[in-house]
Amino acid sequence: MRDRVPAVVSAPARPRSVVFRGGLLVTQDPARRVLRGDLRVEGGKISAVGDVGRGGADEEVDASGFAIVPGFVNVHTHVAMAPLRAIADDRELAGFLETLFAVDARRTESDVEAGARAGIAELLLSGTTSFLDLYYFEDAVARAVESLGIRGFLGWAVLDPELTTQKGVPVENARGFIRRWKGHELVSPLVAPQGVYVCGKETWLRARELAEAEGTLVHYHLSETRREVHEHQSKTGQRPVVWLEEIGFLGPRSVAAHAVWLTGEEIGLLARRQVGIAHCASSNLKLASGGVAPVVELRSAGATVGLGTDSVASNNSLSMLREMHVAGLVQKNQRWDATALSAQELLDFATVDGARLLGRAADLGSLEVGKQADLSLFRLDHPTMFPARPEAVVSHLAYAASDEAIDSVYVAGAPVVRQRTLVRADWNAIRRGGEAAADALWSSRPK
Ligand SMILES: [Zn+2]
Repeated sequence: MRDRVPAVVSAPARPRSVVFRGGLLVTQDPARRVLRGDLRVEGGKISAVGDVGRGGADEEVDASGFAIVPGFVNVHTHVAMAPLRAIADDRELAGFLETLFAVDARRTESDVEAGARAGIAELLLSGTTSFLDLYYFEDAVARAVESLGIRGFLGWAVLDPELTTQKGVPVENARGFIRRWKGHELVSPLVAPQGVYVCGKETWLRARELAEAEGTLVHYHLSETRREVHEHQSKTGQRPVVWLEEIGFLGPRSVAAHAVWLTGEEIGLLARRQVGIAHCASSNLKLASGGVAPVVELRSAGATVGLGTDSVASNNSLSMLREMHVAGLVQKNQRWDATALSAQELLDFATVDGARLLGRAADLGSLEVGKQADLSLFRLDHPTMFPARPEAVVSHLAYAASDEAIDSVYVAGAPVVRQRTLVRADWNAIRRGGEAAADALWSSRPK
């Protein structure tokens, strides 16, 4: 029978042109149009939206049973931590960190790569096409990005040289990483100060200088817990955001993760300095950060907010569908206001606003002519997409859709997932490599 099964013709990595016919297009364009129509892609970019005519294409996709949605942008994660899912559940932050630091110190570049491949597989299978990462051994993550075909914005973690387990000076390691990968089509390298608890003034300023010299983003953890804020205050006399302003660090092209514990003054400062915010609702809830990030106030002050899953050690999922859902519910409940964060705003966080945070508003985050064809096809016949009405589809994406409704995912017009199967790698091979890494890491955790 085997020879009667049509051979899987390996399509060119990126066909010159693709036409998606008759999909329900969730454009996320400035008017937030949802329309029934076609989408044409040429050379990896969207060249027509709506009626594209009958002209031929290298590849035609019958999209009539699908919603076509911009690929999600996850603006805070640590993908290589995939093998650490569930390793420190239901623990106070101090115990959680103790386990994580002990295991982290034993990681090797090869188990980071194996872990990153598993994490990226999960991202792609849940419709994420761009992610912002903070870790070390980022060359290994970059290789995983390149081979699986996602877009990685990869931040090399920096901290004070006397506190690191990295060989050499972290900021110099970050510089080397940036220089090795700058200009790559899918990998955007950057520098990532870990947080005020391990970075002194010198480290923050050297990271900022490096980002400016190389023209990259800077990404960091900020005011995640009350303890972090109080300890910084007793050490320096200032809250973290005020202190970062004072030392001259705050500025544009930067993305702060968490931003849970902020005063009104700090909200104003972050907005004025054009700092982007990666809101990590699930991670904050699971680690019992206690507060809820003031994302409504941050947005009213003019800051851009996106969503981050954080790692699977603290979430425990990389699904952006779940993240939209949780972020919406927690704001509504916390504020006693069911109108807080609409489904449309949540989808904006996960797409156009995330792209803006990465400095890529011009070419990522929506289905518009001239943008990269990064998109997912959601099955309209899936139970969690029912009723498949155009006016309900944004709500389904924010509140109801399961990752299982995602059939195919494209990055720059090239398929990376088809029929819920990775195109460029075999999940079972990734899983076996990741499990070998997990065995070594789990056996080294403190009891
Ligand atoms: Zn984090």
